[in-house]
Amino acid sequence: MVRPTIIHKSPAQLRVPPNLTKLDAERSRFSWAAARAELTELPGGGLNIAHNAVTRHARGPGRDHVAFRFLSGDGVRELTYGELESLTNRFANVLGGLGVGRGDAVYVLAGRIPELYLAVLGSLKIGTPVSPLFAAFGPDPIATRINLGSGTVLVTTTSLYLKKVARIRDRVPSLRHVLVVPDEPDEPLPPGTSDLPALLAAASDDVAVVPTRPDDLALLHFTSGTTGTPKGAMHVHEAALTHWVTGRYALDLHPDDVFWCTADPGWVTGTSYGIIAPLLHGVTSIVDEADFDSERWYRILSEQHVTVWYTAPTAIRMLMKAGPAPALARTRPDLRLIASVGEPLNPEAVWWGQEVLGLPIHDNWWQTETGGIMIANTPASDIKPGSMGRPLPGVEAAVVQRSDVGLTFLPDATEGELALRKGWPSMFRGYLNEPDRYARCFSGDWYLTGDLVERDADGYFWFVGRADDVIKSAGHLIGPFEVESVLMEHPAVAEAGVIGKPDEMAGEVVKAFVSLKQGFVADDALRLDILGHARRKLGAAVAPKEIAFLEALPRTRSGKIMRRLLKARELGLPEGDTSTMEGGAS
Ligand code: ATP
Ligand code: MG
Repeated sequence: MVRPTIIHKSPAQLRVPPNLTKLDAERSRFSWAAARAELTELPGGGLNIAHNAVTRHARGPGRDHVAFRFLSGDGVRELTYGELESLTNRFANVLGGLGVGRGDAVYVLAGRIPELYLAVLGSLKIGTPVSPLFAAFGPDPIATRINLGSGTVLVTTTSLYLKKVARIRDRVPSLRHVLVVPDEPDEPLPPGTSDLPALLAAASDDVAVVPTRPDDLALLHFTSGTTGTPKGAMHVHEAALTHWVTGRYALDLHPDDVFWCTADPGWVTGTSYGIIAPLLHGVTSIVDEADFDSERWYRILSEQHVTVWYTAPTAIRMLMKAGPAPALARTRPDLRLIASVGEPLNPEAVWWGQEVLGLPIHDNWWQTETGGIMIANTPASDIKPGSMGRPLPGVEAAVVQRSDVGLTFLPDATEGELALRKGWPSMFRGYLNEPDRYARCFSGDWYLTGDLVERDADGYFWFVGRADDVIKSAGHLIGPFEVESVLMEHPAVAEAGVIGKPDEMAGEVVKAFVSLKQGFVADDALRLDILGHARRKLGAAVAPKEIAFLEALPRTRSGKIMRRLLKARELGLPEGDTSTMEGGAS
């Protein structure tokens, strides 16, 4: 099907007037200092994420508004801003009672249960940095991460403790306290742990938020491990400013919204946008404790009256794989904005949103290191499917080439590395234990992202690939995203991962791994058909030479296709760090 290259938007036709209508005007008007004035200072001065996310609502008219609605097998549990305030105060006091303070670090290893959210916000209140981990991590990745950040407290559940942490406890010498949430009432407490619900019940619900400075450490987030061993990115309290303004511009949050960020807090998205940004805006967030399930997700969107939905390409691909029937079986009259992050969003997926869900999907780009959304398709702006959008107000982005003598700034329509001018508040302030690596990310005033992009004449940025993934074949530089997007247009293809395979003649040849939508059979006829489609669209030089069918592609816990693993397996090389691989040891 031939589709237009642009989805035109008219702000007047949008049901809710968007916060951002004129990007260029807003960019020139914007200042971070003015944004800072919109957040609340601490009584004695200073900035604290949790004070702005929770306390200021609890002390105002938003006190009885629902902050979180947790959906679990046991039913629904709601916490208002007022309740969240008193429970996070209790958590802060539990830490205080244990002598835990600013020099410590709290880790959380739990599913998306309320205590995870209390631990994150309660730790921030007393200035203790906090790091949520994926509950599915195995013992080794848990130990590595706690040791990297010298974790002193771990919040977990009894079963996760017994299954994973007990085995590595003697390998994490910095860990002084383990606070467990029992999975069942009256469960015996494992030796060497404390009962978190009992401690919370006994603690005071009044606490003075400590006077954190804007550049005090707040969050430790590990990168997804898509390209190698995960790095620990350090974030500070003033990151809240980025969460605040991007919640307004990119996610278009309005006070009555019901917002659903599907990411787990173990991935930076699930903290920046699953916890902080929606609370800063005083909206109601849905937290689904269960894993992906297409039927369930469609039910949540309808029954919870979700208005703004923030998800990831991997989830969208899985919904596409399940076919349109479950989407069409329900209506979603409240939903007005769908946004996505984490991987390039193929144009096919943007159109699928438009055609099957009735709304296009707004791709946006950022990284663990940037702490918040930097480049986005926003509600009132035209969407160019396949593009990640334009830099948000307060963000200056450029396309550069690095060399020993510095940076060359490249003109439009030229491939180069995406660079961001330093100065946005949620910029990471270091990689744990890797100062040299951190220093290598910067050149002068610019942070270098490691992603290759192109900017068009309208200022839209187009993702080409990660610097590590680009394929050099017979003199061509081929970005895997372009090839994958064309493969995704084939009606049988659910997802595609493309690698360069060493070749004597060409240097590298393009090899594609694809998984199929339901109802298609992986055979030679289909392989030839997909190859033919790719050749017609891309030309013989860029189209894959080989296609292999896989049941599913290897991916990280945050849902990203692990091309390095496809390549290592293809070449019979060691797989490297697989700690973040979905379905890996746990
Ligand atoms: P690691 O750094 O450990 O290899 P990772 O880079 O996948 O893992 P994250 O910080 O979770 O870890 O992901 C950021 C990266 O994800 C970006 O640098 C980019 O490569 C990719 N990404 C995120 N959003 C988009 C997007 N909208 N379009 C294209 N790529 C994206
Ligand atoms: Mg990265």
